[in-house]
Amino acid sequence: GRCLAVFTSGGDAQGMNSALRAVVRMAIFSGVRVFAVREGYKGLVEGGKHIEEFRWASVSNILHKGGTVVGTARCKEFREREGRLKAAENLVQRGINNLVVIGGDGSLTGANLFKKEWEGLLAELEEAGRLTRSQVEKCKYLNIVGLVGSIDNDMCGTDMTIGTDSALHRIIEAVDCLTSTAASHQRSFVLEVMGRHCGYLALMAGIAGCADAVFIPERPPNPGWEDSMCYQIAQCRDAGRRHSLVIVSEGAVDSENRPITSEQIRDILQAKLGHDTRITVLGHVQRGGKPSAYDRIISARMGAAAVITLLNAEGEIPPKMIGVQGNVIMQLPLMDCVTKTRAIDTAMKTCEFKQALELRGRSFKR
Ligand code: ATP
Repeated sequence: GRCLAVFTSGGDAQGMNSALRAVVRMAIFSGVRVFAVREGYKGLVEGGKHIEEFRWASVSNILHKGGTVVGTARCKEFREREGRLKAAENLVQRGINNLVVIGGDGSLTGANLFKKEWEGLLAELEEAGRLTRSQVEKCKYLNIVGLVGSIDNDMCGTDMTIGTDSALHRIIEAVDCLTSTAASHQRSFVLEVMGRHCGYLALMAGIAGCADAVFIPERPPNPGWEDSMCYQIAQCRDAGRRHSLVIVSEGAVDSENRPITSEQIRDILQAKLGHDTRITVLGHVQRGGKPSAYDRIISARMGAAAVITLLNAEGEIPPKMIGVQGNVIMQLPLMDCVTKTRAIDTAMKTCEFKQALELRGRSFKR
């Protein structure tokens, strides 16, 4: 029978456990042996106890946990051919030639490369006497399916990535906390959130948490933004708002591609408006805590879809990524998604979206 392995790699994201659980249980339900690899590619390269056959109960009681119970790591060895050779040996020894990779774009790129090299790796291992003819024959090709675990929501081809919704919940909890203390003292807060290339978290938090201004990597503000920001914030204060909130993505830039930092914004609000301004950098809190219901559900659906994709494959298939588009689970060509840069959603350009961003405490003339 067929065997598959599943692992998590790159940065952790809430919902990875739900995906892992779905993969394991869907595989067992379908009569397929399933192995979990601990510590991502590191476990694949090191083998031994890192690769463990999972049972139905191996994934009990993990659905509600943040992070990933099978661990994740960055692995230098896997970037070298020698490391991938060991990884292939460890898989073929166990008869595994189906992989579900749950990780970010780096992890999925690594998986794609691994698949491309597979035949050559096996030939070399057989030549060296590390694998037998029949072992190689059983695992001639490698089929891979990727699930995107990333709180940044930075992948093309999917409306949401695993962990984004939970991270947004964490941010909104922080915004609510900051808002009450800020309003009491009539302070201003600059909140820095994750998002190196993708402003999704900042933008959505801006709507859900009512920010006065949001800075993201994809849409640098026009020159003179400092004055427009201050003008708008001053207007809101005049209208009776007792606090101000500016949300900045860690990757925010201005029109000349210079970083816009939290410190810079604080200094501007202090100098131009005389506001008592504080900075909060949320950092890893955003990755922590329980996965939201949404993350548990899409991860479960994506995990099940990954196994179905592998089981439906008649022979070798090109690498796939599982994504969600308009609440429909989709099977997509992996590298098309990984190599494209995610442009700001067309949804974000729509009229309702712009209006949602404008619904702040400004005093409109009646
Ligand atoms: P995140 O979005 O959280 O950074 P990621 O999956 O992009 O997640 P990376 O650190 O880029 O995180 O990749 C995780 C691991 O995947 C690396 O440590 C390495 O082992 C493997 N990997 C990444 N890129 C490649 C590559 N080009 N070739 C081989 N392996 C790679």
